[in-house]
Amino acid sequence: MTTPRAQVRPRTEGWTQKKDADGRPLLQFASPRRGKPPAHFADLTPEQRVEKMSELGLPAFRAKQLEKHFFTHYTHDPAEMTDLPAEGREELVHTLLPPLLTEVRRLSTDRGDTIKFLWKLHDGALVESVLMRYPGRITLCVSSQAGCGMNCPFCATGQAGLTRNMSAAEIVAQVVHANRAIAEGELGDPRHVGHEGERVTNIVFMGMGEPMANYARVMHAVRVMVDKKHGMGMSARGITISTVGLVPAIRKLTNEDIPVTFALSLHAPDDELRDEMIPVNSRWKVDEALDAAYEYFAKTGRRVSIEYALIKDMNDHGWRADLLAEKLNARGRGWVHVNPIPLNPTPGSVWTASDRPVQDEFVRRLETHGIPTTIRDTRGKDIDGACGQLVATEADQEAAAATPVEA
Ligand code: SAH
Repeated sequence: MTTPRAQVRPRTEGWTQKKDADGRPLLQFASPRRGKPPAHFADLTPEQRVEKMSELGLPAFRAKQLEKHFFTHYTHDPAEMTDLPAEGREELVHTLLPPLLTEVRRLSTDRGDTIKFLWKLHDGALVESVLMRYPGRITLCVSSQAGCGMNCPFCATGQAGLTRNMSAAEIVAQVVHANRAIAEGELGDPRHVGHEGERVTNIVFMGMGEPMANYARVMHAVRVMVDKKHGMGMSARGITISTVGLVPAIRKLTNEDIPVTFALSLHAPDDELRDEMIPVNSRWKVDEALDAAYEYFAKTGRRVSIEYALIKDMNDHGWRADLLAEKLNARGRGWVHVNPIPLNPTPGSVWTASDRPVQDEFVRRLETHGIPTTIRDTRGKDIDGACGQLVATEADQEAAAATPVEA
């Protein structure tokens, strides 16, 4: 017999759940109204881009040229677009490819293999993306919203609330800028890297925001990323969409014809705890979220990830590993793997990551039940660029105030 472990909960640690007018946990699904981001070429479908050309009295092939410049040469600078007629070029490019992201700062760590970008949007909203070089792949963690309305107590972004949805072009522009930085040899030690034609190979929607709460724009951005003829030509498998578990949106995603990788932020296998850790659990319970995740696998054949931030004495008990495995195995075998994430510290939070032996035991139990399990590495922790740490700090706000928006 082992001695019973402590059970810490967000509430016992002094965190209080904000409530809405009906007394339910506060969740912001709708984006607050703010000035719309400038309309951008990347917000249009390939057909709409051609129509746009015809409206402007230009031949259709100009659309293709602009697509090439932006999506594969990573530029919105008219000076670099010498295949466009000089006359009216500046104006055309400025109208169709307005600058959307102004770089406020860039922090680098892991000997240059990780870069965190802080971007200011046209209305002053701040978002971040994190670029990471791994052996054989380059991953960009993108934001889908400025802030987040899901209010998870252990996530810095969630605690800051939702500023607004990002447009599809703003989401895509993060990839364009990252590719530009790579092309300029800025990711990694230039003595060892800098291969010709290197670019982002993997995208994870794990930056700021709840991607499924900004569904249409996120899906438009994904279509641009995977479009071989008119977009970036990335592999859908290399794109991971992570959600707190907005079940109707997961079902919608299941019926899209884009086999992205799907990740569910579960963090607790029992509703009692998950109700407190993930406020959206008040709408869709553990079993509903797991059923939707399983259906994603059944329809697409893509193995699903379950994310599980390990928080000391909160959700890291051996019995929870057993219960999680039981719930996953009840739905089938080989359809899922678990990604435990040692909790990253967030400002003002009292919670810490599980102790190493506890983490090891959690993993061991899952594996004993036949569940493939990989601990997620915590890249960028020292630059507050790891999971759950993306939030505009006071220093960020000051730097942003001193940065004029590019126009
Ligand atoms: N809103 C989406 C995507 C963004 S967060 C979602 O929740 O899935 C990406 C992952 O980081 C999620 O699994 C999230 O729960 C996790 N996370 C949030 N805060 C964290 C923290 N402080 N430490 C470790 N992981 C965290």
